[in-house]
Amino acid sequence: MIRNAAQYVASLRDNRSIYLDGKIVGDTTTHRAFRRTVASAAKFYDYQSDPANQDRMTFRTPDTGEIANRIWELPKSYEQLVQRRKALEEWISLNAGYIGRGPGHVASCISGMAMGLDVFKEYDPKRADAVMNYYQYARDNDLYLTYVIINPQADRSKAASEQENEFLTAGVVDQDSSGITVRGAKMLASAGILANEVFVTCIQPLRPGDERYAISFVIPLNAKGVKMLSRKSYEEHAPDVFDNPLASRFDENDAIIYFDDVKVPWDRVFVNQNIEMCQKQFHATPAHVYQNYQAQIRLSVKMRFLIGLARRIADTNGVTGFPQVREILGNLAAQGAMVDALLTAMEVKGSKHGEYFVPDRHTLYAAQVLTQQLYPQVTLTLRELAGGGLIALPSSVEDFRNPETRKLIEKTQQSPTCNSLERVKLFRLAWDAVGSEFASRHLQYEMFYAGALFVTKNHSFATYDWARSAAAVDNMLKSYSLEGATGQAS
Ligand SMILES: Cc1cc2nc3c(=O)[nH]c(=O)nc-3n(C[C@H](O)[C@H](O)[C@H](O)COP(=O)(O)OP(=O)(O)OC[C@H]3O[C@@H](n4cnc5c(N)ncnc54)[C@H](O)[C@@H]3O)c2cc1C
Repeated sequence: MIRNAAQYVASLRDNRSIYLDGKIVGDTTTHRAFRRTVASAAKFYDYQSDPANQDRMTFRTPDTGEIANRIWELPKSYEQLVQRRKALEEWISLNAGYIGRGPGHVASCISGMAMGLDVFKEYDPKRADAVMNYYQYARDNDLYLTYVIINPQADRSKAASEQENEFLTAGVVDQDSSGITVRGAKMLASAGILANEVFVTCIQPLRPGDERYAISFVIPLNAKGVKMLSRKSYEEHAPDVFDNPLASRFDENDAIIYFDDVKVPWDRVFVNQNIEMCQKQFHATPAHVYQNYQAQIRLSVKMRFLIGLARRIADTNGVTGFPQVREILGNLAAQGAMVDALLTAMEVKGSKHGEYFVPDRHTLYAAQVLTQQLYPQVTLTLRELAGGGLIALPSSVEDFRNPETRKLIEKTQQSPTCNSLERVKLFRLAWDAVGSEFASRHLQYEMFYAGALFVTKNHSFATYDWARSAAAVDNMLKSYSLEGATGQAS
């Protein structure tokens, strides 16, 4: 089954507990802090259910023969992987990649776990059944998932079990024949307001003694005891779409989730108090690669948008002809090509995990390391190109509604390529992409969503083909000695 927009929106009216500004939010689909973003997410569902798009966006599941969104597809060949990527690109393009945790991200993670079911079978056949049953359930019900896989910051020099509060980090307080009971917090559910269910686990290394935190499960966001503590809503503070075209519509939200003695049934528990298995679920299966491959697809879409924006800013200010500006744009274009090329490379260099075809692990980690550092550079370049135009703007859309100030805007906002309204519209968009509080959160997102830089660099270190590089060095060292070049007269 695939859902349409109305079915998706209806599914969010589920009495979940979201806290914002000291109050509990009722219906997110109508609340002014969330409603436009919910409507943007609903477009994903409109798009997939449009008969004109269905062939590209969906596939027939091998076990039921029903259609499902391609985010759940488990490709068996390079061609299937690319076909799936093209569908994901189309979906992500609906918001230029600004909904970072669109439905495709955690679906990719769970799909990666399903592709690596052998790892779960070796651990515990019952937990393997839970993973496979949930993969099919989420796929067949077209669920939107988010995840919380990071422990709250407190004292990072100490283990989870050594923190002052034993249940700062979500852990098991009890277990019985029906399941486990979980208490404590996890960060940071992006798109929690948009999702139906949350995948909860720990991707950070845990130490002996931390077993109670080594869990992995899924739970509906309206389950008893699940409390979402929302950050400030940028949407709420962006009442007019024209003034903040991104913040007002694509503020996916981020929330700490507190588990207030939440009961999780066994058929939703993937790992129970096993430190090694918490790591293996990501790294011994294709899950980590597959979820972050989706993130790189999204970033390539976003880069395309930002590069287009840079060019439009330069054209609007009449500076594109200056050699220095062409160089800046040329450099941006090269950076965009690098992101695209890494994406292509991870597909071309992909390999089989069992019967499934998955992107190349090291190329993925290389892309993460480079793009975490690239994103701040790209947004800074847009600021550099735009100059004071990002700031020298009318105070709000109201200035256009007053005939007197509108005339003044027409006299003061000019461009060789567009009228004053179009100029203001463009620079407002650019500010929301690089300068507003929404933009600033995106900077933090791109720098951290996949872990801090030292984490991704360590993944790159762990997966590089050092033996091949070592052989190159050895060959060179062997080619000369104190006597000169080997096999040649000195
Ligand atoms: C906007 C945004 C959205 C997010 N969305 C999600 C989400 O949907 N789901 C989810 O699970 N998580 C999410 N996260 C959390 C994200 O995964 C974490 O921010 C990331 O893993 C880094 O962890 P941390 O924030 O605890 O930083 P820390 O691990 O505390 O690191 C912060 C800094 O401290 C230093 N540091 C810390 N530990 C070490 C160390 N061992 N060695 C060297 N230096 C160290 C480094 O300078 C590092 O950059 C999101 C984060 C942001 C900012």
